[in-house]
Amino acid sequence: MSVSGLPPYDPQNIFARILRGEIPCKRVHEDGHALAFHDIHPQAPTHVLVIPKGAYVSAADFHASASAEEIAGFWRAVGLVAKSLGLEATGYRLLANMGPDSGQEVPHFHVHICGGKPLGRMISSG
Ligand code: 5GP
Repeated sequence: MSVSGLPPYDPQNIFARILRGEIPCKRVHEDGHALAFHDIHPQAPTHVLVIPKGAYVSAADFHASASAEEIAGFWRAVGLVAKSLGLEATGYRLLANMGPDSGQEVPHFHVHICGGKPLGRMISSG
């Protein structure tokens, strides 16, 4: 098991394949540290995923193992993307699922940026 209680990084996971350009995405931003693209099943009028370029299986893995430069670059990209999507005035939600109880589906660390309408309660039991 990796640092975050998940299996070791799988280079064939869907986001690794998107990073390598093997699978298309609706890209909204790319820099040296991060790639941002629209979620394929949006849960809000705007739903964008931001992923680091490094091979980190989860939030726990990323924050334990990435360099300070990677962490700063990634989170700066999250802020830039949210701003570029025009979400700052009305607000937005950042969400990162980590491990089984969260329902994390894709084992490459990612942050969801959701906005474009009032988003309601933070956590659903469903
Ligand atoms: P998680 O549950 O791991 O936090 O979120 C994974 C997200 O990735 C889901 O919202 C899902 O819709 C999205 N997703 C899964 N496969 C693809 C894909 O091939 N392309 C895109 N753009 N999003 C995907």
